[in-house]
Amino acid sequence: MTADRMPAMFDPGAESMPEDQRAGLQQHALRAMIDRLLAAGGLQGRRLAEAGLTSGADVALGDLPRLPMTLKTDLWSQYPFQMLAVPLSDVVAVHGSSGTGGRPTLVAYTRADLQLWARMCARALAAAGAARDSVVHNAYGYGLFTGGLGIHQGAIELGATVIPVSGGMTSRQVTLIRDLRPDILTCTPSYAIRLGEALAEAGLKPGDGLAIRAGIFGAEPWTDALRARIEELLGLRALDIYGLSEIIGPGVAAECVVAADGLHVNEDHFLVEAVDPVTGAPVPDGTAGELVFTTVTKEALPLLRYRTGDIAALRRGTCACGRTLVKMSKVTGRRDDMLVIRGVNVYPSEVERVLLAEPSLAPDYLLVVDERAAQARLLACCEYKTDSPLPVPSGELEARLREALGLSVQAILVPAGTVPRIEVGKAVRVARWPGGDPPLPGLS
Ligand SMILES: [Zn+2]
Repeated sequence: MTADRMPAMFDPGAESMPEDQRAGLQQHALRAMIDRLLAAGGLQGRRLAEAGLTSGADVALGDLPRLPMTLKTDLWSQYPFQMLAVPLSDVVAVHGSSGTGGRPTLVAYTRADLQLWARMCARALAAAGAARDSVVHNAYGYGLFTGGLGIHQGAIELGATVIPVSGGMTSRQVTLIRDLRPDILTCTPSYAIRLGEALAEAGLKPGDGLAIRAGIFGAEPWTDALRARIEELLGLRALDIYGLSEIIGPGVAAECVVAADGLHVNEDHFLVEAVDPVTGAPVPDGTAGELVFTTVTKEALPLLRYRTGDIAALRRGTCACGRTLVKMSKVTGRRDDMLVIRGVNVYPSEVERVLLAEPSLAPDYLLVVDERAAQARLLACCEYKTDSPLPVPSGELEARLREALGLSVQAILVPAGTVPRIEVGKAVRVARWPGGDPPLPGLS
């Protein structure tokens, strides 16, 4: 991509700042955050005081890995608002995600937090090539979930036109895409597939009624193989976006359309570390670890070293797009999603990578953990493409899975339409089968 066709950054001063200059700002912001936490006197402030800190001035940026961590269970124990660092009257919005024990994970925003969030999403949209004349078809769900309203506010901040279609009602989405000709699509990757199939059924094809240039897909982990499927189906550049409500929502990190090989982390606001998921010790750049974020500029709910459970690797250097922001790889797994089958640790994403690399298989699959016997076994149920002349023999697929996972997995090919589709929310990729009816018909 030549420089004159390079999409403009939303915030070039911050996104392409020299790393040493950024480090100075990060240290300043970290010290101010620690002062705010100490002053607020909540759980995080008490932990800092117990660690012997009396002021942010005691801390340098390099001390970050020695500061106390914050866990999702802390948000749960302090539910709903005991971790706020501002008076409740300064809170202007609340979002959240599914939590544990019947309580959602709630996150509060001040007006400045919402503005920050909008700017982060505007950065992500601009990195995908969106501009003021763009039309953004936003099919992330609107509501407590941060996906819909995050992208919505970012598109407005950028000055683009946002279509707040939300999730579901696919036939209406097809109509809106046909009539409004968006150039940017935002939704979950699984819904992008669903929408792509519906658009094809309606006769809308890339270059023939379909003008979407780029898609920003997130809120569930996905692989490069799924990226290739989406790009083929919709004729667009499929880009990853990362975020979680605890940190701010979508816009924590996003891929640029220039390189599309990792997500630029907005580390001027969200300091990022990768740590060993078991010991919590830092892992070197390029090594997969659990992502840990520190929200140095957020007001209502600043989080110090928040453990995300998401597994990814970090990489530094200046990107072809000109950004100097550290890159994270795609999330390759969840600490919590890790399945232990016969003593072997398996991330569902590793299985997906093998399944989606096979051209005769459709991107719809369900992993079934068969727990009926004392020793659990893993079944990979995948749909084959109806237009494929010959589906891959299941034995061949099993050999590839054994090679990739170091574990025997039974591959079961099922006809198209067998695996349940989702219209709203995250795709269900794993089902447990403790006994009784099988999660899919025909299993034995
Ligand atoms: Zn880049």
